[in-house]
Amino acid sequence: MLRIGCHLSSSKGFLAMAQTAESIGANTFQFFTRNPRGGAAKVWDPGDVRAMLDCFEKTGIASPLAHAPYTLNACAKDENIRRFALETMEDDLRRLEMIPGVMYNFHPGSHVGQGALAGIELIADALNRVLKEDMHTTVLLETMAGKGSEVGGSFQELREIIDRVDLKEKLGVCLDTCHVWDGGYDIVDDLDGVLKEFDDTVGLQRLKAIHLNDSMNPKDSHKDRHEKIGKGCIGLEAFRRIVTHEALKGRPFYLETPNELDGYQAEIALLREQARLL
Ligand code: FE
Ligand code: FE
Ligand code: ZN
Repeated sequence: MLRIGCHLSSSKGFLAMAQTAESIGANTFQFFTRNPRGGAAKVWDPGDVRAMLDCFEKTGIASPLAHAPYTLNACAKDENIRRFALETMEDDLRRLEMIPGVMYNFHPGSHVGQGALAGIELIADALNRVLKEDMHTTVLLETMAGKGSEVGGSFQELREIIDRVDLKEKLGVCLDTCHVWDGGYDIVDDLDGVLKEFDDTVGLQRLKAIHLNDSMNPKDSHKDRHEKIGKGCIGLEAFRRIVTHEALKGRPFYLETPNELDGYQAEIALLREQARLL
């Protein structure tokens, strides 16, 4: 069974997201924990969260993925920006304890001229502060396109962060197809080779989620512009291989393509159809 969904707006609350997911044929979804560009989070209504969990039970929806705001930069040069990232992650992780089975994805950050190694050390340091033994949420580092001074544009950089984290069992990776393609990994002509490299570097057991996005740009462009599935440089055939690949089996897939709900519904149906063609 293909577990696939898309990014949904959290503005109408938790139950509304589950109901929306079901209405478009999704059996999972991603949401922002707070305004992706701002900081303050609304209070989460425990009744609304419980209603969402009841809806999961009835519909078979599972593996909700919480996405941290993109403005977080755990490896910023400015200490205040780093502290803000840390406090936001701590607050998000405290709230997420309300949602069993949730995972929390974040962009490692940009080292802004300090160098990749300094960035890696700061990110690992932030993780060593926010990860707690008694926490239930798995925190995911997202693979990045390597735009500007982004850290996490290569599997090796992710490996180097993970190596420096104590509670590794709380940590995983979310692979974004647009980002790895833009980062130079040939998931179109050599998906097997890319997944082998991931396994050799990071370990496939750490791969917990996949963001499905086509890319507006060619491989190695380091741009990060998402495109609709099949309309970009990655193409539908590559997505068919991705959603049916043995090594990716059982992982949840999340679309972050430029779409409204009807577009997401169509892409979910298209990818389910591709998976059936196997
Ligand atoms: Fe992301
Ligand atoms: Fe992504
Ligand atoms: Zn992106």
